[in-house]
Amino acid sequence: MFDKILIANRGEIALRVLRACKELGISTVAVHSTADADAMHVRLADESVCIGPPPSKDSYLNIPALLAACEITGADAVHPGYGFLSENARFAEILADHNLGFIGPKAEHIRLMGDKIEAKKTAKRLGIPVVPGSDGAVTSEADALAIGREIGFPVLVKAAAGGGGRGMKVAHTEADLALALSTAANEARSAFGDASVYLEKYLQKPRHIEIQILGDGRGGAIHLGERDCSLQRRHQKVWEEGPSPVLAAAARARIGETCAKAMRDMKYLGVGTIEFLYEDGEFYFIEMNTRIQVEHPVTESITDIDLVLEQIRIAAGGELPAKQSDIAIIGHAIECRINAENPQTFRPSPGRITQFHPPGGLGVRIDSAVYQGYVIPPYYDSLVGKLIVHGKTRGECLMRLRRALDEMVVDGIETTLPLFRALVREPDIIEGDYHIHWLEQYLAGQPPDAAK
Ligand code: ADP
Repeated sequence: MFDKILIANRGEIALRVLRACKELGISTVAVHSTADADAMHVRLADESVCIGPPPSKDSYLNIPALLAACEITGADAVHPGYGFLSENARFAEILADHNLGFIGPKAEHIRLMGDKIEAKKTAKRLGIPVVPGSDGAVTSEADALAIGREIGFPVLVKAAAGGGGRGMKVAHTEADLALALSTAANEARSAFGDASVYLEKYLQKPRHIEIQILGDGRGGAIHLGERDCSLQRRHQKVWEEGPSPVLAAAARARIGETCAKAMRDMKYLGVGTIEFLYEDGEFYFIEMNTRIQVEHPVTESITDIDLVLEQIRIAAGGELPAKQSDIAIIGHAIECRINAENPQTFRPSPGRITQFHPPGGLGVRIDSAVYQGYVIPPYYDSLVGKLIVHGKTRGECLMRLRRALDEMVVDGIETTLPLFRALVREPDIIEGDYHIHWLEQYLAGQPPDAAK
């Protein structure tokens, strides 16, 4: 096991990792930018090192500064959290070159899945169903048109290097295709430095359902059921729940086993998420994330497995925490991502939190690094915290969530709490009857057309 872990992240995920380390008896090193000197992860860690000025590229993405921090403190492994360097294969290799552990998958798998075209080819080869589309990058308008006609319009142009919903454009008809191709490629070039794009059939009313997997790197892998992340705004998840309101146990077992088998074949190491669109009873792979995800507490709540703790154990050479036959789905969990944003315009609202009262009670968990008097800096993501609620049934979970949302107080800044208070009372949400476009239609004041 590791003796001392450096947490190369900030905010709630840095705190989340710190908690797992403390339970395992591992010493912790926090790193922070000058903007985060007062952050909670810095206060709670055993040691802390300032790694640079506020912009992420000079601090949380600054590999030489992180290596120096490991050397100064004697850390023997790095946990990257999510975002920042968590899916940077080169970083994993550099750490290995310096005899430092990386709490994440093998570099080759990060690289493979980081390229969505390669990821899709790999998924197909491993027997995972994929969205119909181009076999690789599309290189000309004529090719794109031929593929579009074959799979049928509308089609989605996607960036090979995509992430965070960027570099994605819909072409509803043949006439839209040229513009969709050039805008997606331009957006991809400026966001990721790689203009390659590919085509996919644009699914009309799918749900986003993702499977959590855990592999030991030696050919053992299990799945921990699914999370339904269909409530999205600009392809970004807003509300996640598990199990999905529409998935039967047999369908879960089937897709879960397909994913676990693929991970066994790859000898995948650590936690990962295989993301699908789900429409008319069929699953279509869209991508794999090779890191812990923001919404991991949903799975922790319904399986009673501490994913971050197991991630650390596995990275240190440990065994999987359970056999597939021992995994049971217990009740229902919902996570709300509460952001420092205007609930109508979603404009970021950084600033001082003058009052903070997190809700409590049975089945209520808050993963947050804020406190009363804390100033949310303008440089990073706008997550104030995640509210995760668990209940024996979806109905009980919604009942507790309604109560917890009403009880929570975050004053001094604008937050998305009012949006969640409204959502939790919406008939379609209560029925579980929604798809990936539901939330945007609702926010635009259109009657959301139900999923069924
Ligand atoms: P990113 O890596 O940028 O998050 P993803 O491939 O994971 O991109 O897709 C993000 C979201 O975009 C999905 O959850 C879904 O809402 C939408 N999306 C992606 N592919 C398709 C598709 N083929 N048809 C319809 N919507 C899609």
